[in-house]
Amino acid sequence: MTTASQRDSSPVAGDFSERVRTNQQLLAAALKPRYDFIVCGAGSSGSVVARRLAENPDVSVLLVEAGGDDNVPAVMEASQWPNNLGSERDWGFRASPNPRINGRSIPMSMGKVLGGGSSINVMAWARGHKNDWDFFADEAGDPAWGYDAVLNIYRRIEDWHGPADPAYRGTGGPVFIEPAPEPSPLAPATLSAACSIGIPTFEHPNGRMMEGPGGAAICDIRARKGKRESLFRSYTYPVMDQPNLTVLTDALVTRVACDANRATGVEIAYRGTTLVIGAESEVVLSLGGNPHAQGADALRHRRRGRAAQRRNPSAPATSGGGPQLPGSRRVALRVAGPGAAAAAQQHGRVHGLLDDVRLRYA
Ligand SMILES: Cc1cc2nc3c(=O)[nH]c(=O)nc-3n(C[C@H](O)[C@H](O)[C@H](O)COP(=O)(O)OP(=O)(O)OC[C@H]3O[C@@H](n4cnc5c(N)ncnc54)[C@H](O)[C@@H]3O)c2cc1C
Repeated sequence: MTTASQRDSSPVAGDFSERVRTNQQLLAAALKPRYDFIVCGAGSSGSVVARRLAENPDVSVLLVEAGGDDNVPAVMEASQWPNNLGSERDWGFRASPNPRINGRSIPMSMGKVLGGGSSINVMAWARGHKNDWDFFADEAGDPAWGYDAVLNIYRRIEDWHGPADPAYRGTGGPVFIEPAPEPSPLAPATLSAACSIGIPTFEHPNGRMMEGPGGAAICDIRARKGKRESLFRSYTYPVMDQPNLTVLTDALVTRVACDANRATGVEIAYRGTTLVIGAESEVVLSLGGNPHAQGADALRHRRRGRAAQRRNPSAPATSGGGPQLPGSRRVALRVAGPGAAAAAQQHGRVHGLLDDVRLRYA
């Protein structure tokens, strides 16, 4: 698979971006009343799902994103990531005031831009732990969620540019990853400190460390030569010159239309009007959730042919999907999703020092 960055650094990069721009302008100007698939939310998960669907030239895909273009320095330049927080590319959610932190209400940033969280996040590539995947498999009764299956997927999608470790790491996939370039001297010092108190240290965090009881390693990063590699850029952008993929920005999904309990389309607020667009096959809700839920959670959003609730309180809640939420009591519950939102977890971190070092031994 050719990645966006590979295309951007090639002599025809300009041609390609121009083709994308022209193609998407034409497609957006001639929106169809129905698409085979409507993917709501062009964040980490929506970008991947839309790409996979659009690989079939016989299906039409509409990818709807509330935020705007990602081609701004704060997104593209890896070092500028904090500039997105609190900007128009951040939904600006806040947690409820918490008595355990002096009643403070901490910001819960969430991307509102092509790429979603993958366009505003810290770019750490952090796989799920073996125990978590095996727990998902047990809960789902489906070994496809288990660690062995997922490890193979990770190896297939990765384009790892660190020390060779073929049992755990893949090369040549769409997801460019490299060891953190020029880590602060505090990073190796932290590893030495961990080692001195018996915490095992690893060359990278996304291999054997994810199978053990704990450990410390310096982060792997989703950036190349200082430029962010968002999932939108890795997956969706390289196929945006295709006629079967329409990517609509600044378009807010306000409702999932249902026939009985089956999702049949969406309502979209777009350029001052309300569009109603039908889905022949599926409506995919990939509208995000807890901003620190990490990539593993991101891929669980797809629901076949029915409305599904995500934690973003926008479209699904106003359509009556998921659990009855506080604040959504005026909307009748249509499709119960009692587990949705129940497993949200936040991870702790100490800025600039221990980011992503596991604190199991603390
Ligand atoms: C500041 C920050 C730092 C992070 N750091 C890391 C990190 O280093 N490593 C890591 O693995 N993870 C990190 N994360 C978390 C990671 O980015 C998320 O877990 C991941 O992006 C979630 O993917 P998603 O597809 O579920 O949702 P998102 O990526 O949030 O995508 C949801 C998309 O849906 C759109 N949307 C929502 N509602 C509507 C609507 N009604 N209509 C149309 N569109 C809508 C949103 O605008 C957004 O683009 C971080 C997150 C944040 C915010």
